Amino acid sequence: MNSFTWIEPADIPGAIAAGAQQGALFKAGGVDVTDLMKEGIAQPAALVNLRRVSEMDFLREEKGALVIGPLVTLARLSEDPLMVKGANTLALAAGWAGTPQIRNLATLGGNLAQRPRCPYFRSELFHCRKKGGTECFAMLGENQEHAVFGNDLCAIVHPSGVATALVALGASLKLRGPRGERTLPIEQFFVRPEQDVTRENVLQPGELIVEVRVPAGRRGGYVKLMQKQTFDWPLADAAVVLDLDGGTVREARVVLGAAAPVPWRASAVEKALVGKKLDESSARAAAQLATSGATPLDKNGHKLAALQAAVLRSLRAAGGLA
Ligand SMILES: Cc1cc2nc3c(=O)[nH]c(=O)nc-3n(C[C@H](O)[C@H](O)[C@H](O)COP(=O)(O)OP(=O)(O)OC[C@H]3O[C@@H](n4cnc5c(N)ncnc54)[C@H](O)[C@@H]3O)c2cc1C
Ligand code: SF4
Repeated sequence: MNSFTWIEPADIPGAIAAGAQQGALFKAGGVDVTDLMKEGIAQPAALVNLRRVSEMDFLREEKGALVIGPLVTLARLSEDPLMVKGANTLALAAGWAGTPQIRNLATLGGNLAQRPRCPYFRSELFHCRKKGGTECFAMLGENQEHAVFGNDLCAIVHPSGVATALVALGASLKLRGPRGERTLPIEQFFVRPEQDVTRENVLQPGELIVEVRVPAGRRGGYVKLMQKQTFDWPLADAAVVLDLDGGTVREARVVLGAAAPVPWRASAVEKALVGKKLDESSARAAAQLATSGATPLDKNGHKLAALQAAVLRSLRAAGGLA
């Protein structure tokens, strides 16, 4: 690990000014930042500690939405009564991440901006495309856990299960940086490899996630399948949010996690559900479409059945069929 300057801003303007300096890196819970530094992937000249910026730590209900500060921990997201009642899909995704120790440290903002877990990216020995090289070593190498959609340039899967739930819920993010403030639907936060293979999101130097806004009261489900039953990222996960008219689906948002470099809308499933009465048979038929158009690599075909199963179980939970 390199030596670095430690900066403790007291407020958001101070954090932005410090974060915009050449070589500075924000640190929230530090779960991913510490890994990246130990792996030699991040060598910041300065770490800007956000933990004491108390104006970024809030959770409240406001005009039919839950408004969440980026410093709220995954532990709080998973347990706070406002979350459990108003956005259970997100509470479940947060509660399934990592372990209790990790969830106590990990924050919402850090979770969304964490870097991918591809072992080639995480090793100093491989100068792959994501690090400015010319090759994706996963294509012909170990790709069991890699993407089955959108994987021709770089086959990372987005590591955040929380992001899967937030896309299903139709959340929005407020970002603030040296050039001012902008609000965007969460789907526009993520960057696909074909847009820029070296990054996963639109954050500019010194730019912070300062607020996450989630519509409250949407009916949903989140299911995560793992290789190990604890202490693991998802092998496949799915979040479903339904708008039901009686038992009939008016609108469905179905999102696959651990499937692509960004949280991936399963639009074939969504289309198959709209206008149908939700029951076991329509849920099964729709879930089978979850992997339509997938392009699995030579060692990750097993993810297709796992993704379909995650969608079916999420649909059952969202529709009260379970
Ligand atoms: C064993 C293990 C299992 C895990 N399993 C899961 C899982 O199942 N699902 C899942 O979703 N995650 C999982 N994780 C990942 C973990 O949840 C993330 O590493 C953690 O949430 C990162 O949050 P943090 O606050 O520690 O971020 P940090 O490590 O402090 O920061 C991460 C990144 O976010 C940036 N950042 C932090 N806050 C902000 C902000 N407000 N604005 C802009 N940029 C910011 C930092 O600069 C850095 O680039 C797992 C981790 C481990 C170690
Ligand atoms: S999947 Fe992406 S991060 Fe992994 S080796 Fe290929 S280019 Fe690098």
